Amino acid sequence: MNTQFNKDTVEEMNEDDDEDEEETREREEDDGDDEGFLVLSELPVEKSERRPTCRRCCRPLKVCLCPYLPPCPLDVSTCLYIVQHPAEESRVLRTVPLLAACLPPGKCRVFIGRRFSEERYPELAAVCKDAHTLLLYPGAAAENLEDLSTDFTSTAHSVILIDGTWSQAKDMFLRNALLRLPRQVQLRSAPSSQYVIRTQPTNMCVSTLECAAAALSIMEKNHSIQEVLLKPLQALCSFQLQHGAQIHHSKEHLIKNGQYNKIMPKNKRKIRRMQKLLTNQNI
Ligand SMILES: [Zn+2]
Repeated sequence: MNTQFNKDTVEEMNEDDDEDEEETREREEDDGDDEGFLVLSELPVEKSERRPTCRRCCRPLKVCLCPYLPPCPLDVSTCLYIVQHPAEESRVLRTVPLLAACLPPGKCRVFIGRRFSEERYPELAAVCKDAHTLLLYPGAAAENLEDLSTDFTSTAHSVILIDGTWSQAKDMFLRNALLRLPRQVQLRSAPSSQYVIRTQPTNMCVSTLECAAAALSIMEKNHSIQEVLLKPLQALCSFQLQHGAQIHHSKEHLIKNGQYNKIMPKNKRKIRRMQKLLTNQNI
């Protein structure tokens, strides 16, 4: 009997139990007391409750972004693999469905979860072990994608991106051994985020869509890819801004311009982290 395997399996099961417990708690909180729920459940359901959704861009039909998508999917040889934190899936403003809608079927695969074991994600594991796979995640060990001499157009490559907030992505990177197998790359010339609706921790930290757009245009040697992919994002932002959303500058921008109005932290670790934001190191 393989004791190591058993230990891993048990750990995995325990983790699942924790998640189940969490979910149960959430459900209990949502439902409130049973009596109230029963009364509510007897009320007629309004038909307008479920807004019709566009099947291509996954947006409500009223705010469908398809006019901003390319008429046919972009011709790319690179395959994107997005490991997405579960919280990201439920966000109202999601950029990954827009990205997938611009690419050929099968060129943008999404895996949702926090932990990715080889046993449960054999397809992802195979991609992580493939020598033609890159992980796009910044860090001290990452090489600049722009500086690599590899000709990505001669052999099809895969790129893995972690989709989540800065801390969720960091946690996923550190706690999934599979994600540390591929060659790690980062964008040297990351553009300042156009995705202004969500506060970005630093100007270097852009949305998954923006990262994917930049990486694809470098690897496919085609700058128009970036423009095409950013169009629906720009439309989404301008739509949200017209409807009352406020522009969120990154924390870095606010600190630099003296507009950061939160009380400066007393905790030394937090201060160091903010200093790091300013110097753009080690994000
Ligand atoms: Zn649509």
